[in-house]
Amino acid sequence: RAKEEGKNTFVVYDKSMHMPFNERMNIEKHLRSAMINNEFQLHYQPQVEIRTGLISGFEALIRWNSPVLGFVSPLSFIKIAEDSRLIIYIGEWVLREACNFMKSINDRTGLPYKISVNISIIQLLQDDFVEIVLDSLKESGLAPNCLELEITESIFMESFENTVSKLEFLKSRGIRIALDDFGTGYSSLSYLQQLPISTLKMDKIFIDSLVEKAYSQSFVQTIIILGHKMGLEVVAEGVEDADQLAFLKESDCDKVQGYLISRPVPQHGVIELLEPQRRHGPEYLHE
Ligand code: C2E
Ligand code: MG
Ligand code: MG
Ligand code: MG
Repeated sequence: RAKEEGKNTFVVYDKSMHMPFNERMNIEKHLRSAMINNEFQLHYQPQVEIRTGLISGFEALIRWNSPVLGFVSPLSFIKIAEDSRLIIYIGEWVLREACNFMKSINDRTGLPYKISVNISIIQLLQDDFVEIVLDSLKESGLAPNCLELEITESIFMESFENTVSKLEFLKSRGIRIALDDFGTGYSSLSYLQQLPISTLKMDKIFIDSLVEKAYSQSFVQTIIILGHKMGLEVVAEGVEDADQLAFLKESDCDKVQGYLISRPVPQHGVIELLEPQRRHGPEYLHE
């Protein structure tokens, strides 16, 4: 992605765009059998509430270990899964798996940890999307307010009314909606106002340039104020160092996610991350 390659580029694109046709076809071919062969796994990256220093939830991130291709990054295969519409099946699996896992964690800890799940616009456009989400909750027994759906600004490009009414309905059922990668896409403030979201996730590109660039600081502080005025929670993505965290804390940002706290971890890693929190209280973030 552009945002990971050059700090001053705000254009978002996908790794698969630069792939030779053959390589894309090859990935697509192996993607087709990946579902039935159980080659996908979810990893979970904690989100920490800055005010308390406690983990409040996790983002589910797909991992694909292909016996032929090895580990393939979602940055390389999600777009291909979208173009081939395989994302419909993959995304449904992600949703069910994430809800089931979080329900088991919440039963085990007795606490309402939240799970954030990335949703592709292709999934959202399906007629049975709402049904699949409600069904995932019902089957797992996870509380609706423990599920957050992460959508991106690409929804502004596709049948906006259709998707917004689905999101509104899900929100009315208590499910949370987050706008992911905020600031890199196409949103205008007038659209933002019409979206039934609960959370703004500020993209890593702004967090990366926080410490050295004054305009990034103003930008981040302005997003936080705007988000709060709209009644939204503001999360910073890709926080890698203590200076960034200190700035975000001072600026009243609600939550952070990033390598500073933890990389995405497999299931057993979630239990390990939550264990010290249960025994000693906050120890991830120091004053
Ligand atoms: P995203 O939803 O914005 O997820 C955040 C990405 O940033 C993840 O990359 C995460 O591992 C990475 N990250 C988190 N903290 C840091 C940090 O401090 N530094 C750096 N350098 N990176 C950090 P990942 O797992 O490779 O996923 C990339 C993208 O692929 C995601 O971006 C999301 O757009 C997509 N994706 C991942 N899983 C799914 C899924 O289940 N469904 C769909 N539709 N998309 C997914
Ligand atoms: Mg996300
Ligand atoms: Mg993001
Ligand atoms: Mg991203």
